[in-house]
Amino acid sequence: MQSLGNDSELAVKKDQKYLWHNITPYSEKNPPMIAASASGSWITDIQGNRFLDGMSGLWCVNVGYGRKELAEAAYNQLLALPYFPLTQSHLPAIALAEKLNEWLGDDYVIFFSNSGSEANEAAFKMARQYQQQIGQHYRHKFIARYRGYHGSSLGALSATGQAQRKYKYEPLAGGFLHVAPPDSYRRPAGMTVEEFNLQCAQSIEDMIIWEGVETVAAVIMEPVITGGGVIVPHQVYLDRVQEICRKHGVLLIMDEVICGFGRSGRKFGHHNFNVKPDIVTMAKGLTSAYLPLSATAVRKDIYEVFKDNSDDYGHFRHVNTFGGNPASCALALRNLEIIEQEKLVERADLLGKRINTEFTELLDHKLVGDVRSFGLVTGVELVEDKVGKKPVDLSIVKGIIAECKSKGLIIGKNGDTVAGFNNVLTFAPPLSSTDEDIEFIIDTFKSVLNGG
Ligand code: PMP
Repeated sequence: MQSLGNDSELAVKKDQKYLWHNITPYSEKNPPMIAASASGSWITDIQGNRFLDGMSGLWCVNVGYGRKELAEAAYNQLLALPYFPLTQSHLPAIALAEKLNEWLGDDYVIFFSNSGSEANEAAFKMARQYQQQIGQHYRHKFIARYRGYHGSSLGALSATGQAQRKYKYEPLAGGFLHVAPPDSYRRPAGMTVEEFNLQCAQSIEDMIIWEGVETVAAVIMEPVITGGGVIVPHQVYLDRVQEICRKHGVLLIMDEVICGFGRSGRKFGHHNFNVKPDIVTMAKGLTSAYLPLSATAVRKDIYEVFKDNSDDYGHFRHVNTFGGNPASCALALRNLEIIEQEKLVERADLLGKRINTEFTELLDHKLVGDVRSFGLVTGVELVEDKVGKKPVDLSIVKGIIAECKSKGLIIGKNGDTVAGFNNVLTFAPPLSSTDEDIEFIIDTFKSVLNGG
């Protein structure tokens, strides 16, 4: 950065020349925001403009920006022991694994990686190998949901149910199947939310049976589909999914990459339901994204199948160089302590309810078809007409996002242009947001929507 000084024009030029961005194509006329610093829920760009980050980055900066304690935790650990592979062990990984166990509230063993995608890849390999080692040799298939997102690597992308992200890279990994999500807003007329959710859960059992029970290894789902449009299931859905999985010897993998670490108003998203997943994957809020780290938590008795196998090939033959880096683990521990000390889980619940109450008033607006919340995640679904529920044109969604940005508020959207679902605006500010921050989000969004 020193070579750029304060020269923002030069930064934009060099960005164009050297940097390949995630997803979005930029041009010199339409440059990306270049961030320079951040504090609390606010980011300052290189021109000195301030924005409230209503998406916590990519749904991840749970404790907000500028936490000195996190920088110190990483710094101290980097001096003491910057690296040691988890082919063996180190103290920060042990302490964090114990802490995660406590947070999960059940007996899990923790495998560390670096990203949400990798945590899911590890889960898929564990599920297949576990099934083999208990004698279920044909169980290799995974069932996921359309509109769900599980990552960008080929296996995690195969589990993803968003055509837009996949079609250029197909054929992907084999054995990944999809069912419709419990999108209650679009349920058939005359059906209650509960009936519809039970029907959606039933489609999983039907698929297991049609595919051959003995060929299905696991079901993977987020507790609530977040990036795919904030699709919140009825309580009966997850109850029934768990019942189906147990009945048919299929593992239940819960992707808590977004919902974990207080975002849902509970420690983990699945704590809002009566489920005990076999495998839980997590990333993002684990370190509040200050450093890369992810984890795959595995029910103790599943782990035992790998541990007790005296044949060398019974072990989990999966290694990653950086997973469980000591500094990342030390920082994650401190991050979890902050969440506990500042009661941010409870705060997420409180703030989410406030946003939801305020946004529910917007249902009178001609474009707002539905408002859905899960803890501090809110989705506002925009439709052309409230009866047909046809999604509004993408240009309207982009226009609202741009207008919010021009007023200093960053919000997000779901995205599956190919399937035509890119009409849900998303809100997921840091759990540490102040009351004033939340008011700013509510007032700014309302004024933009009402043409103010
Ligand atoms: N699962 C879910 C639910 C996610 O939202 C994401 C990322 N948005 C991932 C997995 C993949 O995480 P990463 O980008 O860290 O690989």
